[in-house]
Amino acid sequence: MIEIHDVHKSFGQLEVLKGIELTVDKGEVVTIIGGSGSGKSTLLTCINGLEPIASGRIVVDGTEVHAKSTDLNRLRRKIGIVFQQWNAFPHLTVLENVTLAPRKVLGMGKAEAEEIARTQLAHVGLGDKLATYPARLSGGQQQRMAIARALAMSPDYMLFDEVTSALDPQLVGEVLETLKMLAEEGMTMICVTHEMAFARDVSDRVAYFHKGVMAEIGVPDQIFGDPQHPETRKFLASVR
Ligand code: ADP
Ligand code: MG
Repeated sequence: MIEIHDVHKSFGQLEVLKGIELTVDKGEVVTIIGGSGSGKSTLLTCINGLEPIASGRIVVDGTEVHAKSTDLNRLRRKIGIVFQQWNAFPHLTVLENVTLAPRKVLGMGKAEAEEIARTQLAHVGLGDKLATYPARLSGGQQQRMAIARALAMSPDYMLFDEVTSALDPQLVGEVLETLKMLAEEGMTMICVTHEMAFARDVSDRVAYFHKGVMAEIGVPDQIFGDPQHPETRKFLASVR
């Protein structure tokens, strides 16, 4: 599980995480919603150790992420992260892009890496695009390739940061369907999203971030149906 205890983080003078407390259990899907600049992305990058924290603790399966002794490369293997956009290697096919990390990071042989990549690409509905180059994929297909690439490392956790925000509206659904499938398969996920219907549909819990504070967290029916914090109400009214 992922345990976040009283995490504070600043960029210079600007405090962007102000005492975040959150525990995500195995198999749980937590979505984070909130306005731009509220610290959502920063929290995700702290969870997999891409960013240092000022104080507090983040513990993943008992490993203290920001302890000096922690092997971050090893930790990151179990935490897949997918961003708004991933620049695939343009000169490599879809299959080659997805085999790259298992081969380079895990030292897997070509045949085994390709087997896993094929499986994960089929899983996200790209089984017929193995030999295609990334530029020939739609935005939605590119995001599904990015998800397959993360899954090829056999992560225990997946972090998704607005993976549909850069997509044309008609391509959003296919990517959300892929996330929903992973959620239903029991993947432990933290999803930052602007897609409220998706958040309501797939989340076990929804957290609302406001100015570096987790103002409210609860089950979707409560957050969307009976928000307690005035800022949550304001935010939801603004996105509806
Ligand atoms: P969100 O994902 O909720 O939109 P972010 O976590 O990206 O918010 O950003 C939170 C705040 O931290 C914003 O004010 C942003 O400008 C600032 N910030 C984010 N990353 C950096 C950085 N690398 N250097 C300086 N400020 C940053
Ligand atoms: Mg963000």
